[in-house]
Amino acid sequence: MTDVHHWIAGTNVPGERSLDVFNPATGEPVRRVVLGTGETVQRAIEAARLAQPAWRDTPPAKRAQVMYRFKTLLERDADEICALVSEEHGKVLEDAMGELKRGIENVEYACAVPELLKGEYSHNAGPAIDTWSNHQPLGIVAGITPFNFPAMVPLWMYPMAIACGNAFILKPSEQVPSAAIKMAELLDEAGLPKGLFSVVHGDRETVEALIDAPDVKAVSFVGSTPVARAVYERGAQQGKRVQALGGAKNHAVVLPDADLDNAANTLIGAAYGSAGERCMAISVAVCVGESTADGLVERIAAQARDLKIGPGTERGLDMGALVNAGHRQRVVDYIGQGQRAGAELVVDGRTHPLVTTSHGYFLGASLLDRVTPEMSVYQDEIFGPVLCVVRVETLDDAIALINAHPYGNGTCVFTRDGEAGRRFADAIEVGMVGINVPLPVPVAFHSFGGWKSSLFGDLHAYGPDAVRFYTRRKAISQRWPRQATKESAEFSFPSS
Ligand code: NAD
Repeated sequence: MTDVHHWIAGTNVPGERSLDVFNPATGEPVRRVVLGTGETVQRAIEAARLAQPAWRDTPPAKRAQVMYRFKTLLERDADEICALVSEEHGKVLEDAMGELKRGIENVEYACAVPELLKGEYSHNAGPAIDTWSNHQPLGIVAGITPFNFPAMVPLWMYPMAIACGNAFILKPSEQVPSAAIKMAELLDEAGLPKGLFSVVHGDRETVEALIDAPDVKAVSFVGSTPVARAVYERGAQQGKRVQALGGAKNHAVVLPDADLDNAANTLIGAAYGSAGERCMAISVAVCVGESTADGLVERIAAQARDLKIGPGTERGLDMGALVNAGHRQRVVDYIGQGQRAGAELVVDGRTHPLVTTSHGYFLGASLLDRVTPEMSVYQDEIFGPVLCVVRVETLDDAIALINAHPYGNGTCVFTRDGEAGRRFADAIEVGMVGINVPLPVPVAFHSFGGWKSSLFGDLHAYGPDAVRFYTRRKAISQRWPRQATKESAEFSFPSS
């Protein structure tokens, strides 16, 4: 088995500790990943400190050219990257390609950095005084990413951070480390000066060393809510800029006037795609009215039983394996909890043949009907192929239910009534909303983020918010008095 090394100053760096990386489709280890220490983090910081000052002074248009080349290299090697993602994560190849394309969007957006950093200018802001604001890089920034999007989530962060003039240290999930290294090699090939992008693998020790390092000025985190909260608090205590995106429980509301066939068809993909291991996965369908619920459950059940499941590296499948054995067991436990709490288990993914015949971490799709708000399957993020159906009487009941949930990442409504869709979008306390769009993941020129326990911090990820997050504003005022002018002391506060 080969080792996946750290990537520092444009070269592979071995480590002392290591961890097996598994192929979820076979349950076999495929390689080992080295785990970093405070020393490894310091080494990456030293490399960044050497490289960042010259990069800060490199014209944004030149920095954008590296991103243009990086984009074409990502496209050239897309199949190789997706094969690594699928092998270590378990998701199907087509889905891996989808995430990579959404990641590449962010590289394209970063190519616009000369425009995005233009700043603001006021001629004669005061008497013969001009004032302008510009956005300067922070220096060294870090990103910590989850297992479920090994390509896309890191690409939410570092293309824009680097294009803005920073150095970036990435700590990817130790469960899926290889795509990050492959992309680091491509950035090198694209001509990024060495030291500006490092990958340090590891666990909590590495993350805390990054947050605590005085040279690391800002931290972007994406992962589960308990860790997001801890990362936010630790960084904020040290006065750092932190954005920490957490977990989710995304509701889809189905109104009685919705096209039920279309709603069911799109919900199937949104609930079970990537085995439900998406922060924007729909995990609760809130049906308004009994006949809406009966119709939706019937349609989803029929399809959920027939999903094509298998190794993600095979073509034409709907769903691959879950990421690891422990996580699959956790999802299995939740299905049992839902049943015991009184939910109706309409489709039981635990009975899928692959669960017993394969050594991979497979689980079929499950559908739980008549779920109520106090059940753990409703309260908690399960992060697996389990869809809960909650029955309510009105749209207002649905809005109140969602607003009372601690998570607020994504949501959607299926309706043919424009007024209902507009009212829902306006009143709902969730950061990303779809109207007949089940996975309302914003494109790269908007920003991504949830509300409530789904995000700690002020700014969302990628898009315009990323420019704000990875730079700090400087307001400069100037005047040039004529040589002959006599200046007198002014003791009152200056005004225009
Ligand atoms: P996780 O929180 O376990 O791990 C995320 C990262 O934090 C990894 O790099 C991991 O090594 C590190 N980490 C784990 N425990 C830590 C600790 N105690 N201290 C410091 N660092 C630690 O999350 P995961 O299981 O990899 O990913 C799944 C979770 O991520 C789900 O909750 C999902 O909803 C969430 N997620 C959220 C978004 C979003 O945009 N809101 C996107 C993707 C995933």
